[in-house]
Amino acid sequence: MERTLVLLKPDAVQRDLVGEIISRLERKGLKLVGIKMMQLSSDLLDTHYSHLVGRGFYPEIRSFMQRTPVVACCWEGIDSVNTVRLLTGITKAREAAPGTIRGDFALSVQTNLIHCSDSLETAKAEVERFFKAEELFEYTDALETFLSSSGERD
Ligand code: UDP
Ligand code: MG
Repeated sequence: MERTLVLLKPDAVQRDLVGEIISRLERKGLKLVGIKMMQLSSDLLDTHYSHLVGRGFYPEIRSFMQRTPVVACCWEGIDSVNTVRLLTGITKAREAAPGTIRGDFALSVQTNLIHCSDSLETAKAEVERFFKAEELFEYTDALETFLSSSGERD
């Protein structure tokens, strides 16, 4: 089953939105298979945001992401990468659709509460970057058959 990485950024921690955001992902039907709090190192951030490292605003992003620990989680579910992107909303939070996490709770391009993987390939690399194998869990979701059909789960 598809897995994706979510980081609840320092603004989510500081604004007491960790529970709200996790609750939204849970209520969608996604399955939490890993979670931990982490203080991110500069090296880890430079790898994670390698597509932004050359940009003038990158030092500010790095410093923002280190202001408090973040909450890293791994979510599993059908098309979970795309599903979490849709629930998150676009990067520029003040233009994100109402009903999305960014659309409902954020205004900024930078402090937009949540990171989520943007493709299947990225998700695989990001889950491995943030979690050791033993920090990810396989267990039966008792409600699985009420959340999707067998054909969808194949
Ligand atoms: N970011 C920023 N200014 C920008 C672009 C990105 O501050 O012009 C920050 C923002 O926190 C964003 C993160 O860098 O969430 C990663 O950027 P990306 O384009 O990957 O956006 P995302 O995938 O988070 O929507
Ligand atoms: Mg991104």
